[in-house]
Amino acid sequence: MPRHCCVTGCSSNYTRKNEKSEFTSTFSVLSECKGNDEKLQNWLRQIPRPTDNFPLNINTVICIKHFAEEFIIRIDTATRPDGSVLSVPRKIPKLAKDAYPSIFHNCPSYLSSEPPTKRRKPEDRQAEMQTRDNQALQQFLTLDKVASFQELCLNFPKHIPQSSLWNFKVTDSCLLFYIVDLSDVPCIRVSIRVTDAMSVIICCGGYRVDGRNLDWVIGKGGKLESYSQLTVS
Ligand SMILES: [Zn+2]
Repeated sequence: MPRHCCVTGCSSNYTRKNEKSEFTSTFSVLSECKGNDEKLQNWLRQIPRPTDNFPLNINTVICIKHFAEEFIIRIDTATRPDGSVLSVPRKIPKLAKDAYPSIFHNCPSYLSSEPPTKRRKPEDRQAEMQTRDNQALQQFLTLDKVASFQELCLNFPKHIPQSSLWNFKVTDSCLLFYIVDLSDVPCIRVSIRVTDAMSVIICCGGYRVDGRNLDWVIGKGGKLESYSQLTVS
């Protein structure tokens, strides 16, 4: 025989004649608040009651409809020895330790209140920030990647600052950046040539710089792979 909910106006587990009964889960007020008088007093303040002489005993129950969903545990989880998590739906839901009744649809609306949004744990916030950082990094790397020589020829001006001393020339087989020295006999002071195979060749003062000395500028292999390698000013 299901027990009747103690909340004023709640018809859970009451059946009228010729009506099919529908079972609603209930929780014993005293069992749920056992050993925690502060919790019990809070529950009693929350629960709308017909009189102050509330018959409070072990059979005094409140139904599940008066609890916000975040307080209701419907699934049990257990961690297996291999670290995987086993989830089993509960036949009978139970309440979280910090649950309290706050929803009273058949009572004046001022008696119902939404529980405050639970503060998230610092580790959850940290994990969320890390996910955001990883997404931002992934996005940067995707946008920064040079897909092909043709794409480079189209997009490189966006990556060169307006105030840059670098001039450039595009041909079918290479993209050339260079700085002209006009101080004495005009000459090309330094040039960077990116071939259509994306190899980078740097010349300085009329000499080609040995590829092995370029590793610190353009990475190993002397290949241009990302626009951030072009951050010349
Ligand atoms: Zn109820």
